[in-house]
Amino acid sequence: MTSKPTALGVDVGGTNLRVAEIDGAGRIRSRHAERVTRGREAFLARLVDIVAARRGPDVGAIGVGMPGRIDAAAGLILSAGYLDLGGLPLAGLLGTASHLPVVVDNDCTMALIAECAVGAARGAANVVMFTIGTGIGGAIAQNGRPVHGRATAGQLGHITVRPGGELCNCGRRGCVETTSSGTALGRHIRQAGLASDTRVDDLFAAADAGNTVAEAVLSAWAAPMRDAATSMAAAFDPDVVLFGGGLGAAMVRALKRLPAEDSWYRYDIRAAELGDDAGVIGAGLCALGRIEDAASAPPALIPIL
Ligand SMILES: [Zn+2]
Repeated sequence: MTSKPTALGVDVGGTNLRVAEIDGAGRIRSRHAERVTRGREAFLARLVDIVAARRGPDVGAIGVGMPGRIDAAAGLILSAGYLDLGGLPLAGLLGTASHLPVVVDNDCTMALIAECAVGAARGAANVVMFTIGTGIGGAIAQNGRPVHGRATAGQLGHITVRPGGELCNCGRRGCVETTSSGTALGRHIRQAGLASDTRVDDLFAAADAGNTVAEAVLSAWAAPMRDAATSMAAAFDPDVVLFGGGLGAAMVRALKRLPAEDSWYRYDIRAAELGDDAGVIGAGLCALGRIEDAASAPPALIPIL
């Protein structure tokens, strides 16, 4: 290997799978996207094929971001949203097939790694990120490292903001996912009597023109999100609270419309910058970080026989 190592970053979504070769500066050297192959055996076989086809001579590691609950330390998928991959030891299987180190983590954690390195949270060491799409994902960085807890910390869509509220997929009521996701925005729109094809940009335009119904819908969507973000600020004191996903920028815009709140907590809110590239960039940088960690491990950890 003559040049600095790169990594393959893989971002597995509910529909699409993206792969890119990422260098140490977080730049994309090449990219590929296709529909996710369904079924455990077929998914793994296709991923092995893609990696074999896409790995250039500099590739020294692989990072994979997955939806759902991931045990990153074990490289194990606990559950993967709509994909039936629960229990799959992906890092071990892909590592054996490719003879490369493989890291697997939650897709939102990978996006956060990218945003901290080369995106909207550049230079920030303590960041809380919410991704607003059909549901709400989350990730936390503390002192520049993702927080995993025992395994699955960062399920920020399930912070309770409205006790006794709408029933959530997780089995509880009033989670922020039930008030402030894209799905919830659609419900607020219908409940306000607006046309079901009303888009969030239509709401901003109407609210700017003085329409109180549109303003109320935006407030019903964003106010519980602020409660969740402020709870995270109370717990983690972040430099930045970042909003990504398809509706991240709209959420920041809606949050900034809310009347100011008098509380102890002050935090910077920003929209994520890297869009659909965040997942592959973060997965690649996470994999490169693993190589560096392995290279810089203290010699004392090597058993002396
Ligand atoms: Zn929930």
